Amino acid sequence: MTAKPVPVPTPETQPFWDGCAAGELRIQRCADCGRPYFYPRPVCPACSSRNVAWFTASGRATLYSYVINYRPAPGFEDATPYAIAVVELEEGPRMMTNIVGLPATPEALVLDMPLQVSFERRGDVSLPVFGPAEAGRAGEAPAKDRAR
Ligand SMILES: [Zn+2]
Repeated sequence: MTAKPVPVPTPETQPFWDGCAAGELRIQRCADCGRPYFYPRPVCPACSSRNVAWFTASGRATLYSYVINYRPAPGFEDATPYAIAVVELEEGPRMMTNIVGLPATPEALVLDMPLQVSFERRGDVSLPVFGPAEAGRAGEAPAKDRAR
């Protein structure tokens, strides 16, 4: 069995990976138009300004979309089935990730459910993954405040 692939940081993404290693989800925000964005890049995708800065996101997100994968990519043979998801960060940007701490079933994975980031060590990097938000752990917005 092959090992899971490990992302290779680049100069543009290094602050993101440094944040993950420190247990923080760091993304960028444009200082001119104010819009937060992800993935890392030196130019604002909304207004093309180069006046951008890193900041630490809350780590809170909601489940935007997902697939349940039964045919593992190399290195993921022991992980199937697993959820490959897109989450929407509280700050707005969407991020592709894995869902942890829940069964990979449609019953457990409810769209818009509140999630909280955690970090999974793989090789020399830590990867952001998302699990169910728990009251008291996620800070200001426990799940019950978002019930509708
Ligand atoms: Zn901008």
